[in-house]
Amino acid sequence: MGILFEAGILSREMRRPILIVLGALAALLALALPRSLRSEPTLEELRPAIPRAVSWVEGQRKLHRPQGRPLSKTERRALDPFFPKGLLEQTRIATAPRITNPPFVEDFGRRADGSLLYDMRGASGIAFIDTVVVVESRTQPGTRRWIGLLFHELVHLTQYRTLGTEGFVRGYIESMVQVGFDYPAIAHEAQAYSLQGRFRHHPDEAFSVEEEVRERFPSGASPTS
Ligand SMILES: [Zn+2]
Repeated sequence: MGILFEAGILSREMRRPILIVLGALAALLALALPRSLRSEPTLEELRPAIPRAVSWVEGQRKLHRPQGRPLSKTERRALDPFFPKGLLEQTRIATAPRITNPPFVEDFGRRADGSLLYDMRGASGIAFIDTVVVVESRTQPGTRRWIGLLFHELVHLTQYRTLGTEGFVRGYIESMVQVGFDYPAIAHEAQAYSLQGRFRHHPDEAFSVEEEVRERFPSGASPTS
């Protein structure tokens, strides 16, 4: 599960799905499927559950945002050249001791090697609309890896902002099916890892993440590759 991850910046744990929101969405979507179904769900099977997934994202955002803090001055300084001012001002960073799987993930099924089809426990961060939840014990604030993780999650916040929550969730799920549930290949993840890598290599070369998102997802349309 790692060909699109940039070597070096991500721990082995972080190579597991970082944007757990997707895993969680997929797990939620699994609720719409018969328990006996153990093959990968199709888009048609997943589509009816999209509104429920959107509600879950909104609920998580509401739950975590009150405990969130604004970006620090140091974080703002590093991220300012890449993100809209309004997004940076609205972003809140909340922390959690760990990411736990919802109980129904077990019911969804396992891969041939026995691992859960959707397992969020290895994630270090997750993005909910305008709020980022980070497992702080996995990534120390102030480190290069920390700012890289924030950058990645803020790309997702930009995607939410540009596509709308419903558009983000719908497009993410459509892409997830298209790539056969290969997380790093999901269009929204691939872009976040790609831009995170660009930032890592050239932290002083400004570019607009918002423009990148608009180019990759014109008019909020579903990704085509
Ligand atoms: Zn991500």
